[in-house]
Amino acid sequence: MDKQTIVVTGANRGIGLELCRQLAAGGAEVIATARDPESADELGKLAPARIEALDVADPESVAAFAGALGDTAVDVLINNAGIGGPGAGIANLDFDEVARTLEVNSLGPLRVTQALLPHLRRGRRRTVVHISSNMGSITNNDRGGYYGYRASKTALNSLNRTLAHELGCLGFTCVVLHPGWVRTGMGGDGAPLTPEESVRGLVKIVAGLTAEHNGRFFDHTGVQLPW
Ligand code: NDP
Repeated sequence: MDKQTIVVTGANRGIGLELCRQLAAGGAEVIATARDPESADELGKLAPARIEALDVADPESVAAFAGALGDTAVDVLINNAGIGGPGAGIANLDFDEVARTLEVNSLGPLRVTQALLPHLRRGRRRTVVHISSNMGSITNNDRGGYYGYRASKTALNSLNRTLAHELGCLGFTCVVLHPGWVRTGMGGDGAPLTPEESVRGLVKIVAGLTAEHNGRFFDHTGVQLPW
């Protein structure tokens, strides 16, 4: 990838960390964010262009991050940060946990996108990538479970589609990507994909995004997923 400025949220571990590694290796100027940059040791070793503090669920933190960017032009925003949410069935569902999952996974990305709109408008690519999940596909929900997580990613997909409509005429491309089932803190040890494998696919897709992809939903291999 040529010299593009790319923001990655939730970059201290998992898929976000690997995104930073591969994007930087490809020549991008990576602005990596973490809730606690001080303890982001692995990310520090990568030495991205910048590491900034960002909690996507905290409006003050989001505003402070946007302020810290000043008049920086951002080509691509990758809203990657996310949480798994409660796994309980309906009888034992903790609604505070469900609400928290929606706050982080659905509203968080929208909040970051809103705050970075001026930076994205200065950029050459005007691209917003949401790391969603196949678990947000209603069509592919063939086993239930994970009320909060599924709903949060379905909402994210919907929010992305609405963003795509509003911002498409300004030259924006807004997509949702499913990374596959990946061996991370969230995906667990039984997942078939390594972060390297998943992110290799994601980076290829991000590099090739154009206006024709606006509003669409792909997995890490480039296959379009059903809503
Ligand atoms: P991890 O649990 O390994 O990493 C999650 C990242 O999100 C961490 O950096 C974490 O930071 C950050 N994060 C959590 N809450 C917040 C917050 N409020 N503000 C900012 N950052 C936050 O997960 P993955 O790397 O596996 O997941 C990355 C994305 O991929 C998520 O959106 C997830 O839903 C999606 N995904 C993952 C799949 C998988 O199989 N792994 C499958 C499908 C989708 P901290 O260390 O501070 O907690």
